[in-house]
Amino acid sequence: MYAEIALPIPMHTLFTYAVPENLCHGKPGMLALVPVGRGQQVGVIWRILDKPTWEGTIRPIIDLLTPEPWFDENLLFLLDWISRYYLRPLGHVVALALPGHLRFAPHHRILWVGRTEGCRPELEPILTLMEKKKQVTLATLSKHFPGPGLTKNLHSLEKLGCIRRETSYRLRHSREAEHVPWALPTDIPRVGEPECVLNAEQQLCVDYLTESLQTRTFRPFLLDGVTGSGKTEVYFRLVDSCLSLGRQVLLLVPEIGLTPQLVQRYLGRFTTHLAVFHSGMTSRERFKAWQRLHSGEARVVIGARSAIFAPFIDLGLIVVDEEHDPSYKQEGGVPYHGRDMAVVRAQKAGALLILGSATPSMESLHNAHLGRFTHLKLKTRATGATLPTIEVVHAGLKENQRSAGKNSLISLPLEQALHQTLGQGFQALLFLNRRGWAPSLLCRRCGHAVMCPNCSVTLTWHEKKGQLMCHYCDHRQAAMDVCPDCGQLSLFFFGPGTEQLEKETRDCFPGARIARIDRDTVSSKEVQLEETLAAFRDGHLDILVGTQMTAKGHHFPRLALVGVVFAESSLWQPDFRAAERSCQLLTQVAGRAGREEIPGRVLIQSFDPTHYALRAVVQNDGAGFIRQEMALRRELGYPPFQRLALLRFSSPDQKKGEEYCQILAQNLPVSPCATLLGPAQSPLFKLRNRYRWQLLIKENPGEKLHGYLAQLLSMALSLASTAIRVDLDVDPHSFL
Ligand code: ADP
Ligand code: ZN
Repeated sequence: MYAEIALPIPMHTLFTYAVPENLCHGKPGMLALVPVGRGQQVGVIWRILDKPTWEGTIRPIIDLLTPEPWFDENLLFLLDWISRYYLRPLGHVVALALPGHLRFAPHHRILWVGRTEGCRPELEPILTLMEKKKQVTLATLSKHFPGPGLTKNLHSLEKLGCIRRETSYRLRHSREAEHVPWALPTDIPRVGEPECVLNAEQQLCVDYLTESLQTRTFRPFLLDGVTGSGKTEVYFRLVDSCLSLGRQVLLLVPEIGLTPQLVQRYLGRFTTHLAVFHSGMTSRERFKAWQRLHSGEARVVIGARSAIFAPFIDLGLIVVDEEHDPSYKQEGGVPYHGRDMAVVRAQKAGALLILGSATPSMESLHNAHLGRFTHLKLKTRATGATLPTIEVVHAGLKENQRSAGKNSLISLPLEQALHQTLGQGFQALLFLNRRGWAPSLLCRRCGHAVMCPNCSVTLTWHEKKGQLMCHYCDHRQAAMDVCPDCGQLSLFFFGPGTEQLEKETRDCFPGARIARIDRDTVSSKEVQLEETLAAFRDGHLDILVGTQMTAKGHHFPRLALVGVVFAESSLWQPDFRAAERSCQLLTQVAGRAGREEIPGRVLIQSFDPTHYALRAVVQNDGAGFIRQEMALRRELGYPPFQRLALLRFSSPDQKKGEEYCQILAQNLPVSPCATLLGPAQSPLFKLRNRYRWQLLIKENPGEKLHGYLAQLLSMALSLASTAIRVDLDVDPHSFL
């Protein structure tokens, strides 16, 4: 027998190995240890064959590391699909699905065969023990016979034929957690909720979805429900139904560490059956969670995008919460999209799929328009609360500025609204999507901005750390007094940041209890994310200042006012999704206000209040925005109408990169499938000391892009020297 094995190495092929007699129970999906070059590696058995397809030398598998397949047929199908769709070596894709860095430890056993002639007397004690025990580990023998002679004696006994030695291998896991500063703590408290009576809208959705669930076939739904409409409650009911059918559930959530509240709610509801997957787990913990799932003990998995690779036995329901969230797309490595892969996995598993959001992505809306997804809507808030009123404050107008200070981040109308809110004993959230004090250090005279030496971005001033920092490569340096360009004493910090906003808020409202949440406060360990969120929820804080970490899924009952300090920070991205993202982000932040009895109010400060994304948010006209945005996308040939791919390449040597860029431009294959834009310098031209270029590939209407992409990629790779790194992103979400 032969096995084709996927190894986590960057090659597109499967590798053929012989299956020795004693391992003939090997099946696809099992982990196997195989010789690779002079070393050994763990791979996944992909296929078992009678005849080898490879004509070179074939070496045997060393051992099987799992008694049963880790990957079932559905998961193997998904991995294969990802490898083809994203044009990545199967081995790289397989590595995504392995629980952390797999290591293996040899495990030596000594087996008794029988007495033979010619044993020297000093071998007698070992013989006696072996005869009695028949089978021991090397470790046991070493305890009985310490000292340096053991190895030699065992060797003699083996030569005489009295014993046989066997080595098998077991998986071992590294202990270290991947370091993610906002990783979820393991002792997260559970929040119990009384079961509520569903409202009519919810009931309708639940009935419809339950019916579909019972068909045990793939049915995709888009659950489009305004913020606070009780989508989570709908998910809960479906999870219950799915469990009672005896099938398993996958709940995908964006950036799990940022949504402790959500995890708490699930823990409160599905205590015993739940396995939580998050990026802060050690591979040992991940492996344990896997085993619980694989044995059927755990039946509900909640996790971020990589949980799509968890080894379910019978998956009946996948929920993708906040399906529009950009964090579902993996940047770097294999650039898969968790939501899209959920569709593939659900389809293969015959599972019900629910994509939920208050602000669905254009892609999902398009699929709903085409009838591929069934579109369900929840139009009112479950608690009976009304949606907040939203106003824009023109930040550029003089009459809106506070007299107290020039360049203040808080406008006069926002200051007044804050006073009113605090006066009523309610809470406020101030949202600004930039951490640090100010995103740049500028020269007043010559306009020079202090840049990162490794990246083409300005350095952000961090007041508390007393350093200039690069948010891309983490370069840090002291601020200078004189301009490095013109030598004048004319540098000043320019632009808004959360640190500065916190300070200004404290100055403005000296009596108020204020806290800030952003990556700096959370990673400093002084303040825990859940602690601050809980303090705010329980009314121990008056004002919360923060980045988008504060925007996601939280429920603060006494939050009456949301102030968006600088709407442009997301509108100004060089990205065709900038308007969509802004609309989603603003709707999400706004949706934190007035979720219970207290009416909510939202003030958005902007320099361009006429922008169509802002107008849509203010007028609560999601439908209008979607119409306008869809028309624009169709006209420009962008997704969801035409597929995109982005070929990126970079080099530490600018000249070599430019040369490659020219060679590539001259050799680009022409095809009716695709329209090419570039190659050109990336907007973020320099990143971590590498110079970057990109080529945008647009699928022409009615064409299929993948054949062309494969051709282009292999051409680009064959032309690239070792100084050039080439990377293809299919359905790119970042264009920096
Ligand atoms: P969403 O996920 O749509 O933003 P949630 O599921 O968080 O909304 O629900 C918002 C709030 O409404 C929660 O506090 C939840 O407990 C409550 N809720 C949900 N459904 C009902 C219901 N049928 N009756 C009363 N309260 C409800
Ligand atoms: Zn940098």
